[in-house]
Amino acid sequence: MKIVEDYSLKSLNTFGLDIVAEQYCELNSKDDLQSIMQSAHWDENILILGGGSNILFTRDVDGLVIKNNMLGIEITKENENYAWLSVKAGENWHTLVLFCLEHVFGGIENLSLIPGSVGAAPMQNIGAYGVELKEVFQTLEAINLTTGETETFGNEQCEFGYRESVFKTRLKNKYFITEVTLRLTKTNHKISLEYGAIKETLEASGVSNPGIRDISNAVISIRKSKLPDPVEIGNAGSFFKNPAIDKIDYEGLRLEFPSVQGYVTGPQSVKIPAGWLIDQCGWKGYKRGSIGVHANQALVLVNYGGGSGSEIKKLANEIRESVANQFGIELKSEVNIY
Ligand code: FAD
Ligand code: NAP
Repeated sequence: MKIVEDYSLKSLNTFGLDIVAEQYCELNSKDDLQSIMQSAHWDENILILGGGSNILFTRDVDGLVIKNNMLGIEITKENENYAWLSVKAGENWHTLVLFCLEHVFGGIENLSLIPGSVGAAPMQNIGAYGVELKEVFQTLEAINLTTGETETFGNEQCEFGYRESVFKTRLKNKYFITEVTLRLTKTNHKISLEYGAIKETLEASGVSNPGIRDISNAVISIRKSKLPDPVEIGNAGSFFKNPAIDKIDYEGLRLEFPSVQGYVTGPQSVKIPAGWLIDQCGWKGYKRGSIGVHANQALVLVNYGGGSGSEIKKLANEIRESVANQFGIELKSEVNIY
């Protein structure tokens, strides 16, 4: 295993930020990880990198960056109704979605085209178009970075929430997720098309009785039409989470702004699209130097090339402040800020 010093991470983060890791290595197996943990290169300051699609670097990394390249998808068990897959953490998420479609395994088709690695998917319980990872998640294996022991986490221990898990909060940077096990359906697939523009997209393509591949195709086509491709414009998807507010506050907001959408998330709570709040504050399409707010989706902050992470963080803070001033609503970052 090669350790490289002063390694540029520009091509390894989807914001395309030109930052440098003091030390960098790529791991292909759990054994690689164990040997680096026992070597002189092991540093207290470790950063695990998957696809770099949910991270904003605001400074060079003073420590060791470990790029996870552990690959493998295995069907470990099957019965008439379900298939269990064990997937190594370095697999690309969308490659896994395609594998499932190929085998007609249902459950993650709504999560098509989400960038990044399988190992990072539990980090924020990835979600899109009404489906979250936790619905198919069984267990994960992770190496405790203090003891070197392998531990297994079930659904409850992961403390999944809305774009959250214990690995993004209490246990952040404490574990290296090496493998994820999912249970997919083989029959009676749950078709979720109530969200966003899925139904309209299927209707427009003349699909009346959609299967999982139709859902995936619809999601891919909507995503391609709405979201900037990081290969062309640097971004990390939604920068903020959609905030949930009190039902009474939502009623008040609706009186003032009849166009506001709200989605009930609990007896007293309503989720408001953060993109709408940001748009109302006049930020949509805003550009400053090489950075800005995407013109089609105000939730996505962008680096047109040459921008810095600290400039993006500053812009995010200004947006947060203006939403707080205008609506009294606090926006929280979804992206991991380093
Ligand atoms: P990275 O950015 O590499 O890492 C993210 C965090 O996880 C870091 O803190 C890192 O240290 C940690 N980490 C990574 N791998 C491991 C591991 N093996 N063990 C422990 N910690 C680890 N997200 C959604 O939920 N839904 C979407 O619909 C969605 N759409 C997106 C669209 C675009 C265009 C982009 C750019 C991003 C989108 N995202 C979305 C965000 C992102 O793709 C996901 O959060 C994805 O799971 C991140 O994976 P990654 O491998 O790139 O993680
Ligand atoms: P959209 O369809 O324009 O809708 C705006 C927001 O309203 C979404 O973020 C979604 O919240 C919420 N929403 C829409 N329909 C809903 C429903 N029927 N019930 C409950 N909530 C509903 O959103 P978009 O920006 O194009 O994104 C589409 C999906 O892809 C969303 O699920 C979004 O989270 C996901 N996505 C995520 C990222 C990321 O980086 N995290 C990037 C791009 C897209 P939720 O976000 O809570 O689902």
